[in-house]
Amino acid sequence: MAKQARERRIIHVDMDAFYASVEQRDDPSLRGKPVIVGGKPNSRGVVSTASYEARKAGVHSAMPLAEAWRRCPQGIFLPVNGRKYREVSGQIRQIFLTYTPLVEPLSLDEAFLDVTASGAIFGPAASIGHIIKERIQDELGLTASVGVAGNKFLAKLASDLRKPDGFVVVPAEGVQDFLDPLPVERIWGVGQKTADRLHRLNVKTVRDLRRLELAHLKHLFGVLGGQLYELARGRDERPVESERETKSIGRETTFGADVGERDFLESVLLELACDVGRSLRKEKLKGRTITLKVRYADFHTLVRSRTLAEGTNLDDVIYSEACRLFQAIALKQPLRLIGVSVHQLANQEEGQLSLFADEREDQEHLARVIDKVREKYGAQSIVRARLLGPTDKKREATAPAVPGGPSQGRGLSGTEVNGRVQPAVRKGPGERGNGIPPGPE
Ligand SMILES: [Mg+2]
Repeated sequence: MAKQARERRIIHVDMDAFYASVEQRDDPSLRGKPVIVGGKPNSRGVVSTASYEARKAGVHSAMPLAEAWRRCPQGIFLPVNGRKYREVSGQIRQIFLTYTPLVEPLSLDEAFLDVTASGAIFGPAASIGHIIKERIQDELGLTASVGVAGNKFLAKLASDLRKPDGFVVVPAEGVQDFLDPLPVERIWGVGQKTADRLHRLNVKTVRDLRRLELAHLKHLFGVLGGQLYELARGRDERPVESERETKSIGRETTFGADVGERDFLESVLLELACDVGRSLRKEKLKGRTITLKVRYADFHTLVRSRTLAEGTNLDDVIYSEACRLFQAIALKQPLRLIGVSVHQLANQEEGQLSLFADEREDQEHLARVIDKVREKYGAQSIVRARLLGPTDKKREATAPAVPGGPSQGRGLSGTEVNGRVQPAVRKGPGERGNGIPPGPE
């Protein structure tokens, strides 16, 4: 076990105060100032990223914005510009991919790289790590902290040790010297509760932790105990998992209150289908299998699929197939969730032969034009009649009678990429534009 851990070379790159740094880079007037990315100070959200200047005032990520405002009234509060950060994240990723295909992003601003096999071309892991750090600085004007070690656990600890602008290499023979003085809280899986229990046993550092025998640790903490035993010795066998190919693209909505009206649900389906179609076209993908997922009020979940003769990325096709599947399902209870996804994906250039190629090309062309208009003027610039018609009345009719009561169509939804649904707070289909749910008049 220890042998393999010694052989692998893993780099962890973590951007410093990423969102805030991007904003400061792009607007020199923000440099040296306490920048707080997350939204308006009087809004209900939390801080996404605080610049180091704001951190000095006690602001940190995940803190309610109102609290950040109290601690740092001179702070410059900015909205989250997700599109920009994703774009920069993509540029950073391109730098990583120069050195290895084994890149595992943890978020927009950090990733693991396995450079074990890259040594023959690019030299030792430490110099690859150094070059990456320099390139991020030179080409993108941003600082990153970099850790280089024999596994993910150690590399992540290393990148965090001298933040910001840190660069720490843990040599194979120096693992224990590196780990021993660290507080146990630095070990993965040690939260406040576990830390408290360890402290009561007079275990404060990793060195202290190593005194506890495996059986004792397992007795105290179960599975986590075994993990602590290994990590305290710097052992971590988890591989760097590069993103697998996109297997499906999907979208789902969880309602704030369960919904039983077919009309309304079909209009939600249309919106979800349009979202999925847009994502597919953006990724230049087409899929052959359309899947509908519904979850009843009692959490019972049904999944139904249809496979087409050829792949599609057209909203109308996705919608009509999803609708057919939906119509075959009995609404024995109202739904708490509905979702559409498309599987069996391939590049859109593949499989162009079709009897109706011309007609389809026209439709695809139109879909791309609509996407562009929406990109430029906002998602609501072109709204289908189906989404405006009688269902709007339905929404009013089903809107909460009591202010603050449950409202339909509000809720969480998620985007599914790589077969995983990534939940994201999103306006439900009942809300349009201003974010105010339809209320009684
Ligand atoms: Mg970071």
